[in-house]
Amino acid sequence: YWMRMCDLRLRDNKALSRASAQAQKHDIPLIVLFIISPQDYIAHDRSARRIDFVLRNLAILKGSFSELHIPFHVVVHTPRKTIPKFVLSFCEEHGVKTLFTNMEYEVDELRRDIEICKLAFPKGIRIEVMHDKCIVEPGVVVTKQEKAYAVYSPYQRNWMATLNGNLSHFLEDCPLPVANDSSVRLLESLGPLFNSQIPETVAGFELTDEDKAKMKEIWPAGETPAAHVLQRFLTTKKRSSQLGGVDPLASGSTICPKFNRIAKYGNERDRIDSDTTSRLSAYLTSGIISVRQCARASMLLMNSKKVESDKASGIGRWLQEIAWRDFYVNIVAFFPRVSMGRPYLEKFSQVVWENHQASSDSGIGRAGNDDDDVETLKRWKTGMTGVPIVDASMRCLNEMGWMHNRARMITAMYLTKDLMIDWRVGERYFMEMLIDGDLSSNNGGWQWSASTGVDPCPYFRIFNPYTQSLKVDPTGDFIRHWIPELRKVRGPDLHNPSAALADKLGYPLPIIAHNEARERALRRYKNPGEQ
Ligand code: FAD
Repeated sequence: YWMRMCDLRLRDNKALSRASAQAQKHDIPLIVLFIISPQDYIAHDRSARRIDFVLRNLAILKGSFSELHIPFHVVVHTPRKTIPKFVLSFCEEHGVKTLFTNMEYEVDELRRDIEICKLAFPKGIRIEVMHDKCIVEPGVVVTKQEKAYAVYSPYQRNWMATLNGNLSHFLEDCPLPVANDSSVRLLESLGPLFNSQIPETVAGFELTDEDKAKMKEIWPAGETPAAHVLQRFLTTKKRSSQLGGVDPLASGSTICPKFNRIAKYGNERDRIDSDTTSRLSAYLTSGIISVRQCARASMLLMNSKKVESDKASGIGRWLQEIAWRDFYVNIVAFFPRVSMGRPYLEKFSQVVWENHQASSDSGIGRAGNDDDDVETLKRWKTGMTGVPIVDASMRCLNEMGWMHNRARMITAMYLTKDLMIDWRVGERYFMEMLIDGDLSSNNGGWQWSASTGVDPCPYFRIFNPYTQSLKVDPTGDFIRHWIPELRKVRGPDLHNPSAALADKLGYPLPIIAHNEARERALRRYKNPGEQ
């Protein structure tokens, strides 16, 4: 079984489970391989935080496989283009007859896997690729004309109907891998090879000691913490602060659907100032918990044999959000151009962006002054735009490696529509900072915000960051937590401080007036290619 960086678990893992069952059936050893590919991490803008998280999880998996006497071989491999050859020679060396793996839907990964198939088939090695990432795999939920949905709502309705039509299939719980005698014998004879050390870090992806310790505290590695995070969301009403010292393991109260967090998810999920969402994304992205397990657990709570789309039910609403994840994977699978830096709506490839440097490699339209643009981007990245909700969100991202969905939407829309900076620059920065950075969800979210993606709402949906701020952070707790300069400010001033107040408190003035920015965006989107 070739484990990839999106399926780092033993429980409910389709390819691993199937590989183990086959090994058991034929009394042959099960071997697990993991390839650390630094060149892929660079090419795909992986964050140092995500790589550190992967390594921490591998260290735990090493212990789990060792307990089961399953050989686990972890190797660092470069260059990435020789991975297919490496995998094949590994298979030949160990007499592997079938290679099991879970599907990765991105272009580079598909090309790599096709190459492996081409090398393996003539040698009589079978490759079994399983769909594990989504609840409903790409290609199943399609329009009547068998085309991909490019709008979420009809996709989601069909997704739910498909799911309800065959719940036991889509929510199957795959058995855990088991030890078998052949694996034990192989481990005894080849022990040292399989005793590979998990590196502490990958060159180029080092974290500072301080960040490493912080990430470890906020996002503990392993399947047990992941299960606790899910349990905490489903069963506790305790509201920890969304803001800082997160304690994902703080669980403990009784199962009472009426008072748990998920019950309020339908109405409160957009509140940034309190702990309203599951925070499972880091665990889902790296596959430390299966998305099927999340759905099964929530349905158990609902005590229902059907997935409900009823918006008032927090559980139904949460499952709809999980459908967004499947939807965006579907988009990447059907429209690979989106993962190559191209907009889904190609007409917007000519929009004139303010930044030169960042879009210079993509040949996108240009305008503006280089120095100002770099400075503007820097201010967005560091949370110094002078718009409190944007700055608090960006500081939260920089500190935690995570942001609430609304915060992601507000900051992405501010960068693209207010600052008119190319969405690809923001997409890349998020990937470099997020612990849950995932191509399909991140690209989908950025293209949605920039109106270049699969969104039926036209480009003139432009968030006003100040009214958004009042809606999502009505208490002001979120802004006050992340912006110490504004900690003493109460009332509406907090969301939009006057120039005099900002000056007094040492907080920056806004880069641009929102109304002016809005007009510019409307003009540029209406006539792509023009100023
Ligand atoms: P919950 O609200 O508890 O939702 C449960 C799960 O459903 C999430 O963990 C996630 O897997 C999925 N989900 C929820 N909303 C979405 C959505 N809009 N799109 C796709 N999946 C969703 N999510 C990532 O996992 N990785 C990313 O790199 C990423 N980048 C984003 C960039 C932008 C600009 C935007 C607008 C959204 C992005 N999202 C991304 C989606 C979403 O913001 C996060 O999944 C969510 O905030 C994670 O918090 P949670 O686990 O508490 O979510």
